[in-house]
Amino acid sequence: NKMIIAVHSLGNIRVFCRCRPLNREEASSGYATVVDFEAAKDGELGIITGGSTKKTFKFDRVYTLKDDQSDVYADASPLVISVMDGYNVCIFAYGQTGTGKTFTMEGTEQKRGVNYRTLEELFKIAGERKETFDYKISVSVLEVYNEQIRDLLATSPSSKKLEIKLAGEGFHHVPGIVEAKVENIRDIWDVLQAGKNARSVGSNNVNEHSSSERLAKTDAQGGRLKEAQNINRSLSALGDVIFALASKSSHVPYRNSKLTHLLQDSLGGDSKALMFVQISPTENDLSETLSSLNFASRVR
Ligand code: ADP
Repeated sequence: NKMIIAVHSLGNIRVFCRCRPLNREEASSGYATVVDFEAAKDGELGIITGGSTKKTFKFDRVYTLKDDQSDVYADASPLVISVMDGYNVCIFAYGQTGTGKTFTMEGTEQKRGVNYRTLEELFKIAGERKETFDYKISVSVLEVYNEQIRDLLATSPSSKKLEIKLAGEGFHHVPGIVEAKVENIRDIWDVLQAGKNARSVGSNNVNEHSSSERLAKTDAQGGRLKEAQNINRSLSALGDVIFALASKSSHVPYRNSKLTHLLQDSLGGDSKALMFVQISPTENDLSETLSSLNFASRVR
């Protein structure tokens, strides 16, 4: 089987690097950028770490600022066929806040992102195959927040805590979560918007809403601190799982966080994963950028 051989030689996880453009404010105040796209066509990204020192990272692909949403989607699109062929697939974005994760995954109404485009293609393929196969497509949207699973499509708060369970068929799922049936591409945008509006991150973001120093102070010792620790826990657990898979370790620590436990079927085994590592072009963000790129380049 040719396809499977190709998959194994490529490895489970492919990593694509995307840099956001300078925003208007940065561009008008003449911010220095640290990113060098000279060898981007070979999958190489240079970061000027000071003076004439350049550090080079290699990925499956490096997008330049000329690449748009459809160029980025072109790399995710083969995974849609894989889903239809029975593989588990995971597509995710990683990176510092403000580097374009939401832009890549959700996009805007005019510049739709990967989430919408993958679902659109699922419908297209299902339509083409409808004489032979009967596909049912549904969407669940959830958030792992402070190590608890929140159903972002639930219309009323659930009294029961949502947990990850192993189904008899051997896959992980979250019993009780809303599975919104989507019949056509018009339904998708509405479902994705509903999920987005219910997110804790952003909507209840204490940083955005509190200007009072007192609130910030008490909160740093309470909710926000707990939130930051939990986010770090999820990310370090994700890193541990990815590195264990990449090094073919016999033990993969999926159970260390809700995020990795949930993604177990889509990261390990016979699955395919794609990660967008998102970065900022400015000198101000250099240390975060290097830390994201170091993380991401260890994954391959
Ligand atoms: P994150 O989700 O990582 O916090 P966002 O997706 O919200 O970051 O991006 C921050 C800002 O930068 C948004 O205003 C977004 O529209 C803009 N942006 C990010 N990436 C791009 C891009 N490739 N092209 C144009 N604008 C972008």
